[in-house]
Amino acid sequence: MPKKLNGTVIVTYRCNARCNMCNRYKAPSDPKDEISLETIRKLPPMYFTNITGGEPFIREDIRDIVRELRKKSDRIVISTNGFFTDKIIELCKEFPDIGIRISIEGLEQTNNEIRGLPDGFNRGYTTLKKLREMGMKDVGFGMTVQDRNAPDLCELYKLSDELDMEFATASLHNSFYFVEARNIIHDRPMVAQHFEDLVNMLLKSNSPKKWFRAYFNHGLINYIYGQKRLLPCDMSFDTFFIDPYGDVMPCNGTKDKEVMGNLNEQSWDELWNSDQAEVVRKKVRHCDRDCWMIGSVSPAMHKYIWVPAWWVIRHKFKALFMKKPYSMYELKAVRDLRDGKVTKEELDKCSTCDMCAVANDGLKK
Ligand code: SF4
Ligand code: SF4
Repeated sequence: MPKKLNGTVIVTYRCNARCNMCNRYKAPSDPKDEISLETIRKLPPMYFTNITGGEPFIREDIRDIVRELRKKSDRIVISTNGFFTDKIIELCKEFPDIGIRISIEGLEQTNNEIRGLPDGFNRGYTTLKKLREMGMKDVGFGMTVQDRNAPDLCELYKLSDELDMEFATASLHNSFYFVEARNIIHDRPMVAQHFEDLVNMLLKSNSPKKWFRAYFNHGLINYIYGQKRLLPCDMSFDTFFIDPYGDVMPCNGTKDKEVMGNLNEQSWDELWNSDQAEVVRKKVRHCDRDCWMIGSVSPAMHKYIWVPAWWVIRHKFKALFMKKPYSMYELKAVRDLRDGKVTKEELDKCSTCDMCAVANDGLKK
């Protein structure tokens, strides 16, 4: 039995939103080129599959795609902006055991400004509530934190907690996938302070899952200060992304698209064991982009479980005696900026932001 992998299927680069941190909507895929069911059938067995976009519910055949992927994956989670409520509800009636993550970028006004979708917050929130009323268990929010929405972070967490939903966080990244090279956090201490508050709330909960999520958010503070990843990145070893053109890639964080092979043209085994795939794996081993996105961190947290587990044990122990068991100043870079040992400009240079770069859109020409 072949080893099961962790896969992300980007079913389209079309998107109805106009987010300020992502230009993907300006570089959509052509529907006639988008990944077919025939190619999806060639994917390997997976223990986890994330279906994403663009906006995946733009695909008219999303139901057929999910049906095919369910045959080869133990767990499916779809990431969406939640705008197409009826389509999402209909899909979940047929597949009540899948997960849905709706990106909400802050409270109502902030979300709608960032996302550029009229009434986007209410649409997303209504979709989430309807899914809960239907009895869907694996439902949650996803938020990409930037200067503009950081003050809403803890409020949004409390909202998700009231609804007993998952709360996934991210921060700004630059890559071909987002068609963006200029994303950057400007006021690091302010944003980190909101993350610190969230980490403390998560640590105080009774849910072990949330304690590990606290570790992930600790890693996000480390990331926005431009520091080395807290865990190695093993993308392309037992994890892959496939784009709408059938190109298999290690991840969505590289500056330019890195291609291991094309599943429209090759079989999975041929592609996965190819020299080209090995070349990409070597690049991953030396990659210095230090992303901290759940797609690359979750497999690493499972693989190197003792690292986050030890962090959790120490902080849960502190929580027995302290009101605030976690401080962002545990991280050296945060202390160094506070103490004037490093400047904001020096930290800016550690980030992947490049104001002069022309962002690659990763579209097949
Ligand atoms: S972040 Fe997602 S929803 Fe926003 S424009 Fe990019 S692909 Fe669309
Ligand atoms: S750090 Fe990992 S996820 Fe990020 S670009 Fe490099 S290989 Fe991809």
